[in-house]
This record gives sequence, structure tokens and C-alpha cells, in this order.
Amino acid sequence: ISMLERIEAAPKDAILGLGEAFKADPRSEKINLSVGVYQDEHGKTPLLECVKEAERRLAANPTTKSYLPISGLPEYCKATAELAFGAGNEPLVSKRVAWAQTPGGTGALRVSADFIAANLPNSTVWMSEPTWPNHPQIFNAAGIATKTYPYFDAPNNSLNLAGMLAAIEKMAAGDVILLHGCCHNPTGIDPTAAEWKQIADAVFARGVMPLLDFAYQGFGDGLEEDAVGLKAFSRPGAELMVCSSYSKNFGLYRERVGALFVVTSTAAAAASVQTQIDKVIRSNYSNPPAHGGEVVATILRDPELRKQWEGEVTTMRNRINDMRHALVEALAAQGVPGDYSFMTRQRGMFSFSGLTKEQVEALRSEYAIYIVGSGRINVAGLTPANIERVAQCIGEVVG
Ligand code: PLP
Repeated sequence: ISMLERIEAAPKDAILGLGEAFKADPRSEKINLSVGVYQDEHGKTPLLECVKEAERRLAANPTTKSYLPISGLPEYCKATAELAFGAGNEPLVSKRVAWAQTPGGTGALRVSADFIAANLPNSTVWMSEPTWPNHPQIFNAAGIATKTYPYFDAPNNSLNLAGMLAAIEKMAAGDVILLHGCCHNPTGIDPTAAEWKQIADAVFARGVMPLLDFAYQGFGDGLEEDAVGLKAFSRPGAELMVCSSYSKNFGLYRERVGALFVVTSTAAAAASVQTQIDKVIRSNYSNPPAHGGEVVATILRDPELRKQWEGEVTTMRNRINDMRHALVEALAAQGVPGDYSFMTRQRGMFSFSGLTKEQVEALRSEYAIYIVGSGRINVAGLTPANIERVAQCIGEVVG
């Protein structure tokens, strides 16, 4: 008797499924604006020069392939905490931060979910509406209840701050609010510094724990500028969690490099929390893969490589922001009705375009242009070579 034969196929991941459909599409004019991966002006996802150099150095001086500690490379954790919080940030100086190197930002989110399930079992995790579709899946897989709070003001293509603040006031003390540290996925809409402060005031007044998903540092306005939200929460004595990813800003997607930081109110609490983080990791993947963490630590700790990396992040950021402006101009040049200037105010790789499901479907079936069903465009998929055609085809489907 087969135990496995009766198992039905799981539904395809919507975004990854689109990537597969794109690959299989025989039309040579096809354009992929769906998957969340940076591409350069030639449509390639580059291996950063600083990463190549760090890998050369590591290969020239091999040490060991023995296990890393459960929480990963200490020098990686320290360097990446300083990148996120800023060196000299009070929680780091006060040793109030428990941490772990994790397999990507997804790994950090899953460890945070397991940590919450084990240690804050009655907490609901609140997510923005809309959010990255993997967010609810990750927390639900850990057995955590999730709910949504308003985030997007569709008519104005902006932040629904009033709706968000009203929802925070109704959250139960002890709940967790998941926020996108910068470059909100999928909307591209981030709070301003002043709005972040208002949000942080409301969250702390309510006794809710902030959890920041920080997957795009450097892709919005700059490495430091993009940490303005995180810093709004990093207050004296305040507790928060941060899930970082270096998939995008180091282009290390497949190496799986991320980090979890849990900021507690005292150094003693951080020591206890560290043991609980280690406990959930031990029974999950035991300890993280080393290579990506070694690459990132090598770059961040070497002034010359770090400078090179900052330059490469700037190049990626500028290209994305240039493409935002170029798309708005190309749409205007094509005479596409409507004001698309909101796209230049959005930040990060994604733009919520306002295209409907039907328009997205027509772009794919008639013009071989792939966009996520929500209307989310990966701006980094635009190039000087394809932008005019994209604008023209958008004009065809909205006109
Ligand atoms: N969080 C958000 C909002 C993302 O968009 C992504 C990647 O697409 C991640 C986290 C995690 O990325 P990774 O696990 O590849 O580091």
C-alpha cells in the first residue's frame, strides 16, 4: 500500500511559478518584470566585483570546513549588526542584542517565527496589507496566528498612515508587528522619517513588539538612509527584532546569507534570549552555511573592499531609480493616460503600478511581458533596451 500516492500537488508559488512560465515562453521579445532579483542594464544578475575579490582571498587562504557555531560566525554577526544599526548604536554598545547568522532573510524570518512560537506563544503577528506573500506562509508554518493591518492607500498611491496607526491602537499588548525596514515589497512605499517616529511611538505605547524585515538596505536612498526606520525603533531600553538579508545588496542570493537580531532591554535578557535562539536553530538546520557569511564579513571588515561594495550598491540603487524616472517619461512619451509620477516616489526594486489583474494577464498573453498579478513591477528588470516596448505595451493594455 502506498502512503505517498494519494498526496496531491501543492499549489505553485505564484511568483516562482511565473518565473518558470517565463523560462518556458518561446517568444524572443519576452521581458521578465516579475521575479525579485536585481538585474543590470544588460538584464544580468551580476556577481559583484567585491564578492569576486573576497572569494579570491578566501580561496587563497583556506582554513577549515568544520561546523560554524549554531549562531554562525561571530565576526559576521558583529559586522552585519553594525551595518544595520550603525556602529556605536546603543543596544550594541550595551550588549543588549542576541543574534544569529541565518540562511538568508527567509531563514531569519523562520527562526524569528520559531522563537516567537516557543517563547511568546500567545502573540499574533500583524502584517501589512499587502505584504510579501511568503510572510504569512513562514509564520503560519511555525504555528503562529497572523492578521493584517492597512498599509497601502491605493487611490493616492501612498502610505495609509492613519489606517495603520488606528490598527496599531487595536492590537493586543504582547502582539508582534512585522514592518518592512525599507523598500516595501510589493508597494515600494516607505514611511518618511517623521512617519516612522509616529509609528514607533504608537507601537511602543501599545506594548507591541516590532519585527523589521530588512531585506533591501541600500536599495532605497542609501545604506544609512534606509536604516532610518530601524533607528526609529532602536530606542534606549526598547525591545525589537530585525531580520536582515544580504541576498540583494551583496547579490549573494543563492549563498543564503542573512541575520536575525533580537534587541532585549538588558544584557542579561540578551544572554537568555541567545540560548533560546540557539535552541530553535539547533532543531531546525543546526548551524548556518559558512561561505556567504565569510564573504560578507571579509568585505565589511576590509576598508578597501567595503568602499568598493558601497560603490556597487550605489550603482544598483542609481540604476533602479533611473529606471523609475525613465519609465514615467516613456509612459508620458507614449501618451499613456494617467499620472505615473508616483513611481518615482516609490523606493526599492518594486513598483505597485496600479495595473489590474486583467491588464497584467493581457501583458503576459499578448506581449510576453511578465508582471506579478498584483501589478507589482520589478523595476530592476527594466533596461534602456526594453523600456520603450514596456511603456508601449502598458499603453496598449490600459488605453
Ligand atoms: N523579505 C522580503 C520582503 C523579501 O522580498 C525577500 C526576498 O525576496 C526576503 C525577505 C528574503 O530573501 P532571502 O531569503 O533570499 O534572503
